[in-house]
Amino acid sequence: MSEITLGIIGGGQLGSMLAIAAKKLNVKTVIFCDDIDAPAQNFCNQFVTGSYDNNEKILEFINQVDLVTYEFENIPYETLNEINKFKPVLPKPSVNRLIQHRLAEKDFVNKLNIRTTRYVSIEKKSDIDALEDFLPGILKTTTLGYDGKGQYPIKSGNDLNSLNIDFSKGYILEKFVKLKKEISIIITRFSNNKYEIYEPIENTHEDQILKYSKIPAEINEKIFNQSKDWAMLIAEELKYVGTLCVEFFIDRNDNLYVNEIAPRVHNSGHLTINAFNVSQFENHVRAVCGLEQIPLKKLSNAKMMNLLGDQITHYRNMQKFNDNEFFFDYLKKDIKEKRKMGHITTLV
Ligand code: AMP
Repeated sequence: MSEITLGIIGGGQLGSMLAIAAKKLNVKTVIFCDDIDAPAQNFCNQFVTGSYDNNEKILEFINQVDLVTYEFENIPYETLNEINKFKPVLPKPSVNRLIQHRLAEKDFVNKLNIRTTRYVSIEKKSDIDALEDFLPGILKTTTLGYDGKGQYPIKSGNDLNSLNIDFSKGYILEKFVKLKKEISIIITRFSNNKYEIYEPIENTHEDQILKYSKIPAEINEKIFNQSKDWAMLIAEELKYVGTLCVEFFIDRNDNLYVNEIAPRVHNSGHLTINAFNVSQFENHVRAVCGLEQIPLKKLSNAKMMNLLGDQITHYRNMQKFNDNEFFFDYLKKDIKEKRKMGHITTLV
């Protein structure tokens, strides 16, 4: 039986699912989150709340754990680096620092000869004037954006005047890709050239928020193989330990692009809980805790639907689900529009 206590920074649905997976492996969990109502406190052994720069609370947290991981990437690098002096942080803080920054992330991917969307750094409004080539495009903050937050579609330089953009933050302008599809690869790296990799997952977004995921993805064999190869190359180059997600675009000419890397378990991988012998969450816990690597086996095709805002109410009121349906309620206290409240996976 494992005697490990795993610290998890972040207490949202991903933290909850990590804690559930850890319990199955007899790994105890302590969750540290700045939200006193964090849903993951329902699933962990201990819960510590405090802001991510509160040294006293961080100390209280790390004193209870053997190692630390995280469920979201936007934790200050300084915090992760400080913690790493006392207890190992996996994935490494340097990985997090790289991926937190869209420009550094894209430069890193391009150095590996992996295609990304075309992009350029924007520091002031007038930088866009000479960049017709990148329009139509999307202006994105270099840090802290997710689910379309901090993103502005730009058709022409004039669009900037109608938007009230705060240029004290850094941005990148990305050329708009005419999307045919979006896919993601979830990969867990255990150590040098030791991986478990899931097949490509096809994702559908609505208002830039993930709505549906499914396997198998309807893609050709070249994209199937290339997306897996690129994800492996990225994970190896980062010397990554744990579960990582690479999100891809496929354009109308079947070109593959890396959109972004998430150095963590990912929403598109929720279906791995029911469709595989080992989920992305369990694999993450196994990898960071140095537990046994188990060969991945697919059990079923599957589709997953995110339940946003008050869509959850209908499912909460359902008395019974079919045997192939798995409903997850994240137990978030308040229902908010477009907030991820739960999901339902159907094995097909
Ligand atoms: P992101 O937060 O960068 O992953 O963007 C969220 C979603 O916005 C993506 O999953 C796409 O659906 C869309 N999107 C972002 N960037 C682009 C782009 N350069 N071209 C086309 N669609 C994009």
